[in-house]
Amino acid sequence: MVNEEGVTHSTTTPQGVAMATTTETETITRCARCGRRLRNDSPDGYGPKCRRRVRKATRSTELGQYKEHLVEKAVELLEQGGLIPLRKTSKNVVFLAVSSDGATAYRTAMAACTCPAGLRAAYMCKHRIAAHIISLAA
Ligand SMILES: [Zn+2]
Ligand SMILES: [Zn+2]
Repeated sequence: MVNEEGVTHSTTTPQGVAMATTTETETITRCARCGRRLRNDSPDGYGPKCRRRVRKATRSTELGQYKEHLVEKAVELLEQGGLIPLRKTSKNVVFLAVSSDGATAYRTAMAACTCPAGLRAAYMCKHRIAAHIISLAA
């Protein structure tokens, strides 16, 4: 297996971007996971490599601890690009979890979530599971 992530991505200088002749520089899409620039539109916000990693993570046995329908919803959330990374601390990544209708957004980390279920801490909500999946894809 080739470690595709090991490829050092060349940091493009502002001048180096000149290869794109169109003026679409304002709409630079970056991978939600690695921050690499995406050439194509991405429905989930990931580049092809990161998408593969995330997909693989969704099949991890570690997720067996969660309710199956919640894992499915977490995967759905990720496929919709509903989990946007906000910042990274040493051991936690904070995400913005956007509801499918785009009306509400919660702050989510693997350890906590500001959605109603998360605040009650009754169970692992789909947002936290999605954050877990991302951490598994790391
Ligand atoms: Zn990526
Ligand atoms: Zn939540």
